[in-house]
Amino acid sequence: MTNQTAQTTTTAQRSPDSRASVHIAVVGAGLGGLTLARILRRGGIQVAVYDLDAGPDVRPQGGMLDMHEESGQAALRAAGLYDAFRAQVMSSAEATRVLDKYATVRIDQPDDGDGTRPEIQREALRGLLLESLGEETVHWSMKLTSVHPLDGGRHELSFADGSTVTADLLIGADGAWSRVRSLVSDATPGYSGISFLTTHLRDTDTRHPDAAEVVGQGVMFALSEGKGIIAHREPHSIIEVYVALTAGADWVDCLDLADHNETKKVLLREFEGWGDPLRALIAEADDVFVPRPIYALPVGHRWARVPGVTLLGDAAHLMSPFAGEGANLAMLDAADLAAALLEHGTDTAAGIEAALAAHETAMFPRSAEFAAESADNLALAFEADAPRRFLDLMASHVPQPPADPAAAPVRTLAPDLY
Ligand SMILES: Cc1cc2nc3c(=O)[nH]c(=O)nc-3n(C[C@H](O)[C@H](O)[C@H](O)COP(=O)(O)OP(=O)(O)OC[C@H]3O[C@@H](n4cnc5c(N)ncnc54)[C@H](O)[C@@H]3O)c2cc1C
Repeated sequence: MTNQTAQTTTTAQRSPDSRASVHIAVVGAGLGGLTLARILRRGGIQVAVYDLDAGPDVRPQGGMLDMHEESGQAALRAAGLYDAFRAQVMSSAEATRVLDKYATVRIDQPDDGDGTRPEIQREALRGLLLESLGEETVHWSMKLTSVHPLDGGRHELSFADGSTVTADLLIGADGAWSRVRSLVSDATPGYSGISFLTTHLRDTDTRHPDAAEVVGQGVMFALSEGKGIIAHREPHSIIEVYVALTAGADWVDCLDLADHNETKKVLLREFEGWGDPLRALIAEADDVFVPRPIYALPVGHRWARVPGVTLLGDAAHLMSPFAGEGANLAMLDAADLAAALLEHGTDTAAGIEAALAAHETAMFPRSAEFAAESADNLALAFEADAPRRFLDLMASHVPQPPADPAAAPVRTLAPDLY
């Protein structure tokens, strides 16, 4: 086993029946997989990353991410990308608002510049990592279809195009529906009972001023009766909206999402009686609604050590977004795993095993804690008398008492509009 440059072919060179051998294979070019590849390469260890997407830009990457000091930011420092990250942080985006269903502002915390969780667009963050890796590391259009264990902790990976790759070390960074996971665990994600539909409003300052006003400069949560409208200000006068509903896993299948106006009508019926500025975030949506049912792995998901393979990020500990930790944890897992591999070395199976054991020993309790928190937060955000306990939760993070609802101004639009 050598710590040599990965001997692999590029996608363009690969023929369907090609066979290659690599030292370290990472499946998944999400934030976790890319962070791992970047830190390992910085430390002189070559890796090959495989992703099912046809390229880096084929799929929208989602909205804003706040990077936490102890996880996402720490990983960016280890990757040597902290300054580049800071240059792309969106100012004022740490502002937080919590509203009730009548659009009454119950908590309003402006971004005073002292926040420790700067916000960046996911696409920009992924772009930084991809750029730092150069073109040869990530192999696109490589959908992993199956994996077979070989001797000595090695694995043979089979891809949808018919090609195979043999790896000395395999890391599953392949997200919620990981293929690599079945090598270590029988667990599968369970549906949380909550479905999100995401959309965007564009040119908000000129075309949707009331919606822009209710959202403010950062993130806005309006929660009540098992439903919610969550919105986030993005650069270029865009607002990303998450419409959240307590619903069966297949509820969204009943919607004809191609019929944008009909989808709006159905969703607006769900938010009958909610304040007009909030309903405007649905009624004025510019983009089609994209369903995102929320799944999670069991809290405390773990496995016994399996030679030559491990998981990180959502593949290991998928949780609801209500702890705001998933991407941060994926990057921290990656940084910790890379540090362990650099410390123990990857030249011998014993070194690899020591590194994987150290990674899992640190990751299991850490992710269990956040998975439990995210499950609790999801439950209290969507309980019948929300936002009562959600306000308490946010107030514990925000150094100001909730505003008096009676005194808070409610901005309304002409009632006939929606
Ligand atoms: C609505 C929503 C909002 C969120 N908001 C936040 C937030 O504010 N803050 C935060 O920290 N986290 C947030 N998260 C969580 C965060 O998005 C994830 O935890 C994070 O993206 C996980 O990163 P990852 O690298 O583990 O997996 P992913 O980002 O899912 O990457 C997995 C990669 O694997 C590839 N892949 C999958 N299967 C295969 C295969 N068979 N073969 C080859 N490639 C494959 C995929 O194409 C993908 O590129 C949110 C999640 C959701 C759903």
